[in-house]
Amino acid sequence: MASSSKKVCVVGAGVSGLVSARELRREGHEVTVMEQSSGVGGQWLYDARTDSGDPLGVAGVPSSIYASLRLNTPRESMGFSDYPFVYPSIDDDDGDARRYPGHAEFLRYIRGFCDAFGLMDAVRLNTKVLHVGLLAPPGHDDDGGVTRWTVRCSSRRGDCEGEVVTTEETFDAVVVAVGQFTHPRLPTINGMDKWSRRQLHSHSYRTPDSFQDQVVVVVGCQSSGIDCLCEDGQVVFADGSSVIADAVVYCTGYDLSFPFLDTGGVVTVDDNRVGPLYEHTFPPALAPSLSFVGVPKRVVVPRFYETQARWVAQVLSGRRMLPSSEEMMAWAEEHHRAREMAGMPKRHAHEFFDDYNCCDEFGEKHCGFPRLEDWKKELRWASVTRQRGDGSETFRDVYHDSELVRQGLLAQGWPAGSQQHK
Ligand SMILES: Cc1cc2nc3c(=O)[nH]c(=O)nc-3n(C[C@H](O)[C@H](O)[C@H](O)COP(=O)(O)OP(=O)(O)OC[C@H]3O[C@@H](n4cnc5c(N)ncnc54)[C@H](O)[C@@H]3O)c2cc1C
Repeated sequence: MASSSKKVCVVGAGVSGLVSARELRREGHEVTVMEQSSGVGGQWLYDARTDSGDPLGVAGVPSSIYASLRLNTPRESMGFSDYPFVYPSIDDDDGDARRYPGHAEFLRYIRGFCDAFGLMDAVRLNTKVLHVGLLAPPGHDDDGGVTRWTVRCSSRRGDCEGEVVTTEETFDAVVVAVGQFTHPRLPTINGMDKWSRRQLHSHSYRTPDSFQDQVVVVVGCQSSGIDCLCEDGQVVFADGSSVIADAVVYCTGYDLSFPFLDTGGVVTVDDNRVGPLYEHTFPPALAPSLSFVGVPKRVVVPRFYETQARWVAQVLSGRRMLPSSEEMMAWAEEHHRAREMAGMPKRHAHEFFDDYNCCDEFGEKHCGFPRLEDWKKELRWASVTRQRGDGSETFRDVYHDSELVRQGLLAQGWPAGSQQHK
């Protein structure tokens, strides 16, 4: 039983924010989820609009999902711990009964999760968080050293066309769950600013139609492959070769960004390293009233974010204790130092590199979270290795499950092998 109930604001209603709301409520807290979009789901709320007028996509549309996108993770490993991502029933005409379904199927799953746990009454849609700040500066708290937060939002009355109103409220705690894939990360390439032909970030890519019969240069993460973009449409590569192109598409990743968050410099983002964070979740000087859910990369999503959410909820209620702020800071510093010593760039600070045992250890250590079954780890890992290897084009439709995976699937009543459900 929670010893202390808090009034908590969750920013974002993607899987991280929704599972945070579920865990916080279970622990007895009063929760409000602020979501700028007109629906829940975060990235999975496909938006056919692109950031029109801003092809490099730093403006308004949160989702980076394109129309034909299918999951690259097997559905059997994508559920929350107590709400599996089951196959649709045979008479469900809207369902997508593939192991790697299209994005709409996962959005259906997320909506089902909200309904199953009655979360929608906690969510304020069309509500953008503009500013999160301390009610009083550190050391000037009016409530015996308790840190509290003001949250300023703009929202629309009624639907998307309604009048905009700005509100300000006070909360005991704020959980930041705004995802990682909204703010395009762009390379610096000579001539980019003068290139008169089309260029866009993958954030703004939706369908291939408008590229038909065009020469398109796709810039990957190693953008050093391009030397310059010339005004006449020529793309010159670092090895001296060149091509006349109609368009350049930047698949160069995303920047973590919390433009609404004002911690007076306590929390900073440096090349996608959010710091300092204890165990990727709590800034030591502001814990536990400020936390982040969803920053870790290459973890088992959404399950890992569920472990973070449960930990945050239990710490806020007093069920679990955090180490002292000095110990938490020492952890963050040592973590960064170890990564630097290993030669990793800062942007890998929150990478788990698909180490599923490490994900399990995190959950066990912080909130007694159940381990992911071995067959699900094997299923997931087989998928990762096939994507990286020669199955990169076919891994979604042709797979051969090991005996361990087959037994696990059959025990759940799920199809095994490469056979489709319907
Ligand atoms: C192209 C693409 C493909 C992917 N494929 C897979 C896959 O196959 N499998 C997989 O496991 N993962 C995949 N992912 C990762 C995916 O992002 C995660 O699965 C998951 O959606 C992350 O959820 P989240 O809640 O942390 O963030 P998000 O889904 O990004 O949700 C964040 C929410 O916060 C809201 N928000 C942000 N700022 C504010 C604000 N100021 N005020 C109010 N609301 C705000 C946003 O509108 C959004 O709804 C993919 C991502 C992309 C971009």
